[in-house]
Amino acid sequence: MRKKIVAGNWKMNLTFDEGQKLTTEIVNMYKDENIKDVTVVLNPPFVHLFPVKKLVGDTPNLFLGGQNCSDKASGAFTGETSAPMLKSFGATYVIIGHSERREYFNESNELLTAKVKQALENGLTPIFCCGEPLEIREAGTHEDYVKNQLTESLFGLSDEDFAKIVIAYEPIWAIGTGKTASSDQAQEMHKALRDHLASKYGQEAADNTSILYGGSCNPGNAKDIFSKADVDGGLIGGASLKSRDFVDIIKSF
Ligand code: PEP
Repeated sequence: MRKKIVAGNWKMNLTFDEGQKLTTEIVNMYKDENIKDVTVVLNPPFVHLFPVKKLVGDTPNLFLGGQNCSDKASGAFTGETSAPMLKSFGATYVIIGHSERREYFNESNELLTAKVKQALENGLTPIFCCGEPLEIREAGTHEDYVKNQLTESLFGLSDEDFAKIVIAYEPIWAIGTGKTASSDQAQEMHKALRDHLASKYGQEAADNTSILYGGSCNPGNAKDIFSKADVDGGLIGGASLKSRDFVDIIKSF
């Protein structure tokens, strides 16, 4: 059975003290409010990983992830962070192919294949992001566009490796804009992606793959979006920086 997952992407936000405060609040609420059956992943900037891990400790179902990793294992690549480093600092997940990485750092589907490989070789679960820009949505070619992102970056994986992937569908026009996809739009795309995965890896593998929605998710809309059959949780940006909002989203299943 596929997991329900809520992952928080802090992006390039929060100082050390702010990150500690946010994590402490989330961990306390998470424990006090007896949250069950949801996998929660905090994805802070790299420099926060170690101190955040110390606060999270062994809290059940509460995990750490990176926001990116290098496509190389080690070497003279100034400013990069490798998958083995993430693993050694307590991360078990890594976001790969966020639209901001694709757009501002020119990350291609081909490069993302190498990053996914690095993550998997080092025991990290990739949260693989896909999603269309507004002009593609308006042209009506969004399903083909997003399916192609999956085909080009993931369809070289073995069945065994594919089983470790989490997908996050994030329409670019909904990220950080306050304009969310409707729950029907999310369901339509998630179903199309699951069918696409089934055509390559079989129905059982597709049914076991968690597909998260991302794009201006908040405590007011999460319940409706998460109620859809093919939506298995969320990748949360802005609202993950507010402990109450983030925990309320986690409780929206
Ligand atoms: C994101 O960055 O992955 C995201 C979904 O951001 P927001 O929730 O702020 O739209």
